[in-house]
Amino acid sequence: MNDIFAMNRADLQAFLVERGIKKFRADQILHYIYKQNVFSWHEMTLLPQGDRETLAGELPICFPVLADIQKAPDDNTVKLLLEFYDGQTVETVLMKHAYGNSVCLSSQVGCAVNCAFCASAKNGFIRNLTVGEMVLQLLAFRKYVTAGLHSVVLMGTGEPLLNYDNVLSFLRLIHEKDTFYLGYRNMTLSTSGIVPAMERLATEGLPLNLAVSLHAPNDNLRRSIMPVADTYTLKNILTACDRYFDRTGRKVTFEYILIKDLNCTLACADELRHLLGGRNILVNAIPVNDNYDVGLCRPSQKEIRRFTGYLKEHGINITLRREMGGNIQAACGQLRIKRMQKQ
Ligand code: SAH
Repeated sequence: MNDIFAMNRADLQAFLVERGIKKFRADQILHYIYKQNVFSWHEMTLLPQGDRETLAGELPICFPVLADIQKAPDDNTVKLLLEFYDGQTVETVLMKHAYGNSVCLSSQVGCAVNCAFCASAKNGFIRNLTVGEMVLQLLAFRKYVTAGLHSVVLMGTGEPLLNYDNVLSFLRLIHEKDTFYLGYRNMTLSTSGIVPAMERLATEGLPLNLAVSLHAPNDNLRRSIMPVADTYTLKNILTACDRYFDRTGRKVTFEYILIKDLNCTLACADELRHLLGGRNILVNAIPVNDNYDVGLCRPSQKEIRRFTGYLKEHGINITLRREMGGNIQAACGQLRIKRMQKQ
């Protein structure tokens, strides 16, 4: 199916020419969509009436329905629940930082990876998102909230490396001048550690930021919370990360959620420093978001400080993620689950 939101300039030009529409109209159309938030052929009044009718028939614009919107009291986090043509919903979150707006996107409906702490997989994997559906998550913020976009992080629902082709086409598309013109350095892809796809990503020649969900300092503990650890060992993941750094020059970030009495003891900190020591990396510690009923709790401030302090003392570059949006259920598929429960 042809989708205007998956087309770059060349794709659109080819589509138009095949239908007897002048090539230069592509620039006008992309300008309407990406610079003026016009998402209806009939409002593109620079186009001749006949062309508008042809396009409305052959390339319908389907904008998702805004099924829910939540704003944090300080207005710095806004979460949208978008409903696509088949009734499936995805969440997407805007975070306003001093340096600009960052959008956290979903790459799939549901998730097959099934990590114990994550709400995204609770109703299983439904389907991949298309290129256009990822673009629409960004455009929805333009339309409903605000225009500026500084960075994109693929840390919403889904495992982006299990939707590899669409995700890569999407990232290449939003890099283009006629769309969002976003630098690859302003894009981050987070993965649970799908090693063959990480290897492939390293060969794409794109300076993307890679984040890896580590969450445990050894395979046994990791297997107890992330079934994907049965397939990919930490050793293989770290080798793939080293190769990613060698090839792209981009420092890899390791996400490490902190779960009380499980993975943030001093013994874990010590194991983690031996695992990562000597590498030019960053650890991003995130207290687990425990308002979804899975029996995993966040540690006390004291425990958090002890864990991060130990690693810092031993030369590991670690930051504690500034939390945004917890109070609006901005984390990890919670809004979608809530709506499904209501229905
Ligand atoms: N599948 C990818 C990207 C989506 S998850 C991945 O695993 O990296 C994005 C990040 O949110 C991951 O680091 C994930 O482990 C984390 N996350 C999931 N559930 C969480 C929770 N309840 N509290 C805190 N972080 C969570």
